[in-house]
Amino acid sequence: MVSSYVHRYPQVVKMPSASEVLKLVGVGVVGLTLGIEWLRWLYRRLKPAARVTEVLFFPCESSCVERLFASGDASKQPCPCGMSHSLKDDSFSRLLFHLLSARVSLDVCVFSFSNTELSRAVLHLHTRGVCVRVIVDRDYMYITGSQIGMLRKAGVPVRHELSRAVHMHHKFAVVDGRLLVCGSLNWTMTAVQSNQENLLVTDDPAVVAPYRGQFQRLWLANDPARHKVLPVHDSHQKGRARNGGPMMFKCHDWKSEELSQEAKEGGL
Ligand SMILES: [Zn+2]
Repeated sequence: MVSSYVHRYPQVVKMPSASEVLKLVGVGVVGLTLGIEWLRWLYRRLKPAARVTEVLFFPCESSCVERLFASGDASKQPCPCGMSHSLKDDSFSRLLFHLLSARVSLDVCVFSFSNTELSRAVLHLHTRGVCVRVIVDRDYMYITGSQIGMLRKAGVPVRHELSRAVHMHHKFAVVDGRLLVCGSLNWTMTAVQSNQENLLVTDDPAVVAPYRGQFQRLWLANDPARHKVLPVHDSHQKGRARNGGPMMFKCHDWKSEELSQEAKEGGL
């Protein structure tokens, strides 16, 4: 009888060296990072481009907007004012609705701002803790009925075009950095009630982002800290300054590269 004999060696488990462990961890981290980047790319590709697209035309019928400012049960109470309360088809109500949807920030960039209801909306948001910033034109901020003084008095940060070479002629607002309202409409009573005007409301990121960037560039460019107050020589300007009107500023020779860098650092 032939018996077979197999010699069995004890199994030896080789422990990885420290450098091998480090390599494995490194490969794991790189793989995880690439995986997260890929998921982000996939999310950007698959998410809907825009959820809100609305076009508003003016002039529009006046309707009561009290419910937009009310909160809780007060918004459900009947209003005895006698005006229309249909907020669906009223362009101005829709505009207010979108502005009042701000929860974090509202950036307003308008040539002229004298509409009391829009001013009320801005103050309402400011009181609610929303970070509101306003940029207006240097000359038009002093027109009759301008709301800028009231906003500043309430503590809303307002800047105006400091360069004398151009007018700040934009009319747009960005809500929470995600929703854009832009078009021909100045924030005046006349524009809302008497003019043929238009507004586009969109949350398409590809459209909103450039406006966000433009606001930040203008906000930085018109920072009074960047500008030096010069002695006033012009008699017209002298009178306005003495009467509490605009001071005369002259731009420093600041660099546009510096501004764009700050805009980038601001996440734009
Ligand atoms: Zn009413």
